[in-house]
Amino acid sequence: MKTAVFSARRYDQSLLSEANRAAGHELLFIQDRLTPETAALARGCTAVCVFVNDCVDAEVLQLLADQGTRLVATRSTGYNHIDAAAAQRLGMAVVRVSDYSPHSVAEFAVGLLLAVNRKIARASMRTREGNFELEGLMGFDLHGKTVGVIGTGKIGSIFARIMLGFGCTVLGHDKHPDPAFEQLGGRYVPVHELLAGSDVISLHCPLTEETHHIVDAASLSHVKRGAILVNTSRGGLAIDVYEQEASLFFQDLSSTIITDDVIQRLVSFPNVIVTGHQAFFTVEAIGQIMATTVDSITAFERGAPLLNRVPGN
Ligand code: NAD
Repeated sequence: MKTAVFSARRYDQSLLSEANRAAGHELLFIQDRLTPETAALARGCTAVCVFVNDCVDAEVLQLLADQGTRLVATRSTGYNHIDAAAAQRLGMAVVRVSDYSPHSVAEFAVGLLLAVNRKIARASMRTREGNFELEGLMGFDLHGKTVGVIGTGKIGSIFARIMLGFGCTVLGHDKHPDPAFEQLGGRYVPVHELLAGSDVISLHCPLTEETHHIVDAASLSHVKRGAILVNTSRGGLAIDVYEQEASLFFQDLSSTIITDDVIQRLVSFPNVIVTGHQAFFTVEAIGQIMATTVDSITAFERGAPLLNRVPGN
């Protein structure tokens, strides 16, 4: 099936081509983001394949539908960048990669936590300049501390298991509590209790209208002084990391660029680590993303059931 692949970086091109070897879909790689201005590049393509910063709103979907596109396949779990209901109205199917190495993101969240708590990036910058001073680098033991996990799905539950292994008490909050989380050793509490009782808070829920700015000035006012906030979910939920400045709140950091004032301020804070949406970026996760994407395009072409259809489509 002729497929326009937007936001195609070099690794997307090589790994998707490799995953597509047996299926043989005709892939048209486009480095640009999908926007109303670039949608015309997909003319003649029955499928478009997108990533998290592509714009797949009602306007773009209409443009694509008018050109004959019938399938949108996102190379991600999150689908907040796609207007699934508009696609439904236009008779277009939307698929995602609902299942790929959740370990990649959970392990990265632990990495960020350790880096912020123990000031590893800051220490590394200092030693490169010959500064071996320890002043300002003190962290705290995670052992014995309380970790709050908001969203105890695939990634959140793995993160919880790792933190239990560190000897932490793990609190959870989820719209749909899962007994498996409690069997692991976690305990569900209301969100305000989680915020007030946790030394570390990690966000693992999808970005929806309900979770947008789930961490804002009001919720931060409940948080312990010195607590660490890790956000590997979506920029619109909160800032990456929070320590002390209880009144701060920012938005949509996952899609900002370096010229953005907010991100410039954030990266200038010594207690904040901002990464460029890279938590999923492991050999295992990317391999599964590409394979699932190709399988979805093949299933659509054959009229077979679409196993990874986006909710609401
Ligand atoms: P999942 O669907 O397995 O789990 C999400 C959990 O959030 C579910 O248990 C759900 O019930 C819960 N939830 C939904 N709405 C909620 C609410 N209002 N309050 C509390 N909990 C709520 O998803 P997952 O695979 O664990 O992924 C979680 C999120 O991580 C994704 O939605 C995506 O935004 C993000 N993600 C980021 C990267 C990255 O590279 N940074 C990669 C993959 C996923």
